[in-house]
Amino acid sequence: MMTAHSLRKMLTAVDRWYRRHARVLPWRVGPEARDAGVKPDPYLVWLSEVMLQQTTIPHATPYFDAFRKRWPTVKKLAAARWEDVSAAWAGLGYYSRARNLHACAKAVAEQGGFPQDAKGLRDLPGVGPYTAGAIASIAFDERIAPVDGNIERVVSRVWAIGSDGTDKGWRAAKVEIGARAQAMADALPAHARAGDLAQALMDLGATVCTPRKPNCLICPLNTMCAARAEGDPERYPVKADKKATPTRYGSAFVLMNGDEVLLVRRPPSGLLGGMVMPPTSAWSETKADDPLAEAPGKFAWVQVGQVRHVFTHFALKLDVWCANAQPRAKIIGEWMSTDDALAALPTVGRKAVALAVGGSGKRGR
Ligand code: SF4
Repeated sequence: MMTAHSLRKMLTAVDRWYRRHARVLPWRVGPEARDAGVKPDPYLVWLSEVMLQQTTIPHATPYFDAFRKRWPTVKKLAAARWEDVSAAWAGLGYYSRARNLHACAKAVAEQGGFPQDAKGLRDLPGVGPYTAGAIASIAFDERIAPVDGNIERVVSRVWAIGSDGTDKGWRAAKVEIGARAQAMADALPAHARAGDLAQALMDLGATVCTPRKPNCLICPLNTMCAARAEGDPERYPVKADKKATPTRYGSAFVLMNGDEVLLVRRPPSGLLGGMVMPPTSAWSETKADDPLAEAPGKFAWVQVGQVRHVFTHFALKLDVWCANAQPRAKIIGEWMSTDDALAALPTVGRKAVALAVGGSGKRGR
């Protein structure tokens, strides 16, 4: 059992380490700037948290920079056209987030600003408990512990919190990890900033207490870490065994007209909702007997290959078909230059169009 004294010792060690080793991130106000009175911008904190939910910092950073440049305030983002937001989001995946991002910007603009605590933030579209905690902590220094993957790993190791590999065991472990993280936030001295603690633990997990080969020798918590004392810190956290990802099959139809490609906008709800895509068949668990049954018109379709893409709950194998549109063919959808399409499409659509264009050359009529 950790005493209040050892918790404080731990907080001091983490704070010292963060002051020397904090990562420089475009949405972050580092500890020195915070000392000088600079406050984090909740808009940038929120934007970064939404972008980082399922992707890495190097992948998200160019998107963050582009959004910030184009829409420097939440009001500007709220006033943007959905088509522009979805095109700027293309490649970040999880398009329901882009929709929620836009809806959330509108709600915040209407309210005149972000709520300043996790409870209020939770009422915003697309803001779950983790994101609300992260924004409340980082932007407003609320003493709440957001537990992302990095913090989860650090805390699970410091207290050697594992599980038996079952869903039930891992759920219980997560509750304990959350409680330990919250105990750290609660134990902060009066003058300390909760946002610095959260970001310090995130950085520690990302750069020192890494999933493989944690660098315990340079870790500020190495004298207090139970997993290290046990001798095999890498075994923590012990998550529930992963279930096999199911596969779905479908076809994408890339119809060319000179340098233009036909795209359709998907319905607003559901996977890739509101995004443009080449027309596709339904995606099902078995291969279709007649893959051209759902093609958008009777053209000389040629199969040019297959692309694969992994979504959260399934892997998709998409056969890519390509054809040239006949002159004056009546097709529902919008024609877009290949370059614009490649920029606006979500990753799976971009893979399909790139394969078709690369596989067939730029087609004329
Ligand atoms: S001592 Fe090692 S395992 Fe423990 S928190 Fe530090 S890096 Fe992680």
